Amino acid sequence: MENLLILFLFFLVIVALTYFLPPDLKKLIWLHRIIVRSLNRKFESKLIKLEDKDRIIIKQQELMDSLNAIEKKIALSILEIARSKTGIKGKFYSLDIPEDLIPIPSVKFRDSNRESGIQYLPAHVHTDFNKMQESILSETSLPIHVDSGYRSPGRQTYLFFKYLAEDNAFSIKENVKWIAIPGFSEHSHPINTAVDIANDFGINGFSEGQSGKDFEKLDEYSWLTRNASKYNFYMSFPENNDQGISFEPWHWHWEQKGS
Ligand SMILES: [Zn+2]
Repeated sequence: MENLLILFLFFLVIVALTYFLPPDLKKLIWLHRIIVRSLNRKFESKLIKLEDKDRIIIKQQELMDSLNAIEKKIALSILEIARSKTGIKGKFYSLDIPEDLIPIPSVKFRDSNRESGIQYLPAHVHTDFNKMQESILSETSLPIHVDSGYRSPGRQTYLFFKYLAEDNAFSIKENVKWIAIPGFSEHSHPINTAVDIANDFGINGFSEGQSGKDFEKLDEYSWLTRNASKYNFYMSFPENNDQGISFEPWHWHWEQKGS
């Protein structure tokens, strides 16, 4: 009987420690690592039941609801520490999901095995992108495509914890260098949504085996630098930008600038 009581008390101490200990920025302690592994399994099993299109636009709350109280608490404190203690310069945009997302069918790129997969954009961004697409095609005969469009903060949350466990050895500090914290990606911005653009051959400047230079050399890129603003698209991270982010010639966000 006494032994059981001791065991029970020991269990309580472990639970309390897990609950109240703040996550370690450099490397999660073993208790927190176990919890992150377990929440990743729950996210996976939640997502696997959804259709492809719903996986990209899942709400963060919906994912979090698949967790128990301890997992949820640890997940939220990891995200909080990632936001406040890692020194990232990015802006927090929003966790809201646009109501008017429009699906864009997957594109199979020429001379390549790669496909874009189904993508989404909010209606206003979709309309302007279509106009821009038609215009570059009629002026230069060069098609451009949405390689990556809207991604929900929920999708970003799933990716954040997956990379934390699988790629970055449970180091929050390391993880934020490679993957945007949910709510901080321009791809999750409900209004000023970012689009990663590829040409007809799938050249985007960031896929495996490519560099930004490959996109910068394209006639499509030079057309964009001259004309994209007519359709409310702007390069978010030009060369030597003051946000400390490397040059991303493929990444353009929608913005209505004052007239
Ligand atoms: Zn991008």
